[in-house]
Amino acid sequence: MSSFSSTAPSARVVSFEEARHLVASHATGVCPGDVQTVDLLAGSGRVLAERIIADRDFPPFPRATRDGYAVRAADLAELPARLQLVGEVKAGDWSQASACSVGRGQAVGIMTGAPLPAGADAVVMVEHTSLWLADHAVEVRRTVGVGENFVPRGAEARAGQMLLDRGRRLDHAGIAIAASVGKSRLQVFRKPRVAVLSTGDELVEIDAAPGPAQIRNSNSYSLAAQIQNAGGEPVRLPIAPDEPGRLRALIEEGLGSDLLLLTGGVSMGKYDLVEQVLGELKAEFYFTGAEIQPGRPVVFGSCGAGAPARVPAANSPSGRSEISAPPRKYFFGLPGNPVSTMVTFELFARPMIEALAGMTPQSLIFLKARLKSEIRTKKGLKRFLPAVLAGEFENAEVELAQWQGSGDIAALARANCYVVIPPEREWIEAGEWVSLLMR
Ligand code: AMP
Ligand code: MG
Repeated sequence: MSSFSSTAPSARVVSFEEARHLVASHATGVCPGDVQTVDLLAGSGRVLAERIIADRDFPPFPRATRDGYAVRAADLAELPARLQLVGEVKAGDWSQASACSVGRGQAVGIMTGAPLPAGADAVVMVEHTSLWLADHAVEVRRTVGVGENFVPRGAEARAGQMLLDRGRRLDHAGIAIAASVGKSRLQVFRKPRVAVLSTGDELVEIDAAPGPAQIRNSNSYSLAAQIQNAGGEPVRLPIAPDEPGRLRALIEEGLGSDLLLLTGGVSMGKYDLVEQVLGELKAEFYFTGAEIQPGRPVVFGSCGAGAPARVPAANSPSGRSEISAPPRKYFFGLPGNPVSTMVTFELFARPMIEALAGMTPQSLIFLKARLKSEIRTKKGLKRFLPAVLAGEFENAEVELAQWQGSGDIAALARANCYVVIPPEREWIEAGEWVSLLMR
């Protein structure tokens, strides 16, 4: 893994793919592994620190998936077939299910979710039958195959089988699995604390009245929202001015969290001081730019968190006094333009936060959609351009949002995705299938 360190880093601009790869390789094994126990529902959106195991077979009995009659499929070779009705099983009724059995020429009424009685090998749907109550008989007008309309015991999972692995972020389906095995409490990883430091003399806090040349600090809030969405705990720091002393103090404070995200101050301007100050803190820089638009000046690196500490013998695993190296803290310097901040977060900071949160690595999923109007651009950068995907079903089409460049949050708020344009393309015709990254 290549890296370099100096007080003022020399530029290292990498391709989009290399930048992703560098983040992924540094993100391996960063999760501190601290575990918390939470109530099941509080586990929604959290990352599992334990495996969820099937406590019994799923389904625990052969489960009917239709309302109808449990039958022997061979009895329906000739239609219509007249079968003798010998019982009824409803969902939850084990005594009926175990009491009756289906012999040749017989049928048992059965409801969705009920256990299939012995002897039956299929369920015929009630829609294809007529009931002759007086004769205790049912007439069947359709054949069924063996195994139709029920799920055999253990077909979904066997007792003892792993249903969800450690590292899985729980969504509603994961919550359903945990509930189905009776986990009312779950072990999850602690959320990583992610410090957010916005830099710039033009910034004011959002409840202050901005002067004529000032703007409100929106990036700290968009980033905090993105951090929450990625499974982290945002720690918003005060605004850092474009002044090295105060900037350094706030960076040092931010390095106390699990990850530090800076915005602004990473371009080529005279007052873009972030890299210089990080360099003074002996930062290692893995890249100082990526061949993308928006977000080209994005920076990724790490800092030692302080001087190595002596661990007393009583507290050390080996029982001997040891020097413990404090963990390196990773940081991203995200460009200050709000759309660049949001895009570079999704592309680079999110996988690091997910790894710190204990999640197994996720690949970036690109969807495909047909382009509504042509795109003309320049070669050389991989572009993530705000776009609107509209239209339902097979009529969905995507079109670039009208925007004034990467400071235009109003355009981004109207967009619902990014069209991804490879660096070698300068013209994409209307009607072509293009890659999308959902927002
Ligand atoms: P910079 O990356 O510092 O050169 O800033 C690029 C642009 O983004 C400038 O127009 C800044 O005013 C704007 N900007 C920087 N930081 C923020 C922020 N925290 N919130 C909103 N806009 C910002
Ligand atoms: Mg700035």
